[in-house]
Amino acid sequence: MILITYGQAPVQEVAIKRKKQASGSDGSRRDVLLEQERGSFLKKWTGLRPIALLYPNRYRVGMSSLGFQLVYSLLNNLESIVCERFFLPENGERFLSIESGRELDQFPLVYISISFEHDYLHLVEMLLQGGIAPLAADRDEQVSPGSPLVVCGGVATFMNPEPLAPFVDLFFIGEAEPLLEKVTDFLLDHFPDSSRQDLLYNLCRKHEGCYAPALYTPEYDDSGRLAAHRPEPGLVPTIKKIFQEQCSKASHSQLLTPEAEFSDLFLTELGRGCSRGCRFCAAGYIYRPPRLWDADAVIAGIEERNREISRVGLLGMEMADAMELDTLSDYLQESGCALSFSSLRADRLSGPLLELLSESGLKSVAIAPDGCSERLRKVINKGLDEQDLLLAAERLVDAGIYKLKLYLMIGLPSETLEDLDEAIELLAKIKNKTDLIGRRRGRLCDITISINCFTPKAWTPFQFHAFGVSSRLESGETRPAGEVVAGLKKKLKYLKKGFKKYANVHVNHDKPDNVLFQAVLARGDRRVADMLLEMARNRTPWKQAMKQAGLSPEQYAVRGYGEKDYFPWSIIDHSIKQSFLWKEYQKSFTAKSSVPCNTEKCRLCGVCNG
Ligand code: SF4
Repeated sequence: MILITYGQAPVQEVAIKRKKQASGSDGSRRDVLLEQERGSFLKKWTGLRPIALLYPNRYRVGMSSLGFQLVYSLLNNLESIVCERFFLPENGERFLSIESGRELDQFPLVYISISFEHDYLHLVEMLLQGGIAPLAADRDEQVSPGSPLVVCGGVATFMNPEPLAPFVDLFFIGEAEPLLEKVTDFLLDHFPDSSRQDLLYNLCRKHEGCYAPALYTPEYDDSGRLAAHRPEPGLVPTIKKIFQEQCSKASHSQLLTPEAEFSDLFLTELGRGCSRGCRFCAAGYIYRPPRLWDADAVIAGIEERNREISRVGLLGMEMADAMELDTLSDYLQESGCALSFSSLRADRLSGPLLELLSESGLKSVAIAPDGCSERLRKVINKGLDEQDLLLAAERLVDAGIYKLKLYLMIGLPSETLEDLDEAIELLAKIKNKTDLIGRRRGRLCDITISINCFTPKAWTPFQFHAFGVSSRLESGETRPAGEVVAGLKKKLKYLKKGFKKYANVHVNHDKPDNVLFQAVLARGDRRVADMLLEMARNRTPWKQAMKQAGLSPEQYAVRGYGEKDYFPWSIIDHSIKQSFLWKEYQKSFTAKSSVPCNTEKCRLCGVCNG
């Protein structure tokens, strides 16, 4: 995959002149942010039902999330609802809603959109700051402002909701469009007259995709491993993920602000999911089946843009076919819009496409080999070979794009030092090709290599694999986390030394210790919540908090799983057969590729079986 970034985004003119809100206008940063936004909803509260929508990170991060924007817009498009946003406060500012400056304890329903494990701690901190009991079990039986129903959705929750389960009354398992409106209607109709328990029970009985963790009791075996979730009588044993099958209008940017990433870009989805089946990539599995919207739906989405915006970014290019792209290109050209892409695969760089990218004012492009060697790229089923990567780098620089970024992962299954050596050789080959062009043009290419430690994610074939370990471990077998982290640090040092030999090459990387924490959260069960609560309440470092909770990184992150093992995320039903994931995992050790999805014919993983 190739990721594309642009230069400094121009600050948007403020198109919407708003009235100051009676309840909250105080000349604060909130006012400045609101003034800069386009697309925010400013509703009077009289006669409306309030919902708080939290993004557990800073404003800039939340506003760059298309999923968060979608939920905000879907809720506010319902006439009876006023939905206001909360972000993680910055620089000592008060924790208030962006729209009207109200406090969190004025909302009986609190919705949270969460995409990344590193925001779990923020979520707990925000509940505490908002004066809400962080544990669902400590909230009143009657739902009310100050003791709200906490509802959580977003991609992290349908990967593995369990580490957040004790904080959340209800999870939405799946995509927002088919779930949000009907479940919200149910909650609004019933919460004033039902107890919390009855409300959740009746909702889960009625609607698929709803998971109330308090109604499912985890059961552990003699060795302390999670063995099952026992539902209350009358409830389904697993929660089916709900997804949008088709759409007549593609999802698109709803809110624009110069504070967000891609601030001058109107983003529109070409589809959802990815057909490639990279074995490390959770998005490629949990968004199955891969869906490509038809050109009319995409155009209908783009038509929603503010006409002052002339740059349109298309998401999901990995799946788009040439004909559909041609139709869209024609439409955009006729509409006077520049066509941009959020990501592309290295093997999809046609001549006309490069021309377009070059004309779009492109400053840098990221190429993602992911695996360090040709063999590892087969292990992860990347479907790109060295020739694809070299050709992509050469053609991009030839098209005048002089900043390249390479994404690499370390800690992949079966990885050896020879694989790392091959990454250093790959850089040398890329440099040879690009410097040749650069010298001719009098401008050498800048290459940034970004190295990330691989985290085995739920619902992927690598879910069975232990973090940071190259060999296969038996079910329950562990390795000392300290040794694993030290091994990853050694690999980082080795690569950095190898890359340092080359001019105009910069290296950045994540910290193995931090990624270990992320792996614990990605693979944890409900007991991990004790650690998060201690961290949020007392600022205790994660390892100490984990120890206090009687847990260890080994039991979650650095352990092997077997084919039949029960996972914390087994409570979710993605329709993906565990036996299929296991086979893919075994296949990875023979470096054998698997074919991309063909939803018409293929019935391999179980998702398209109807
Ligand atoms: S059944 Fe086949 S086409 Fe459908 S999601 Fe699974 S692997 Fe892809």
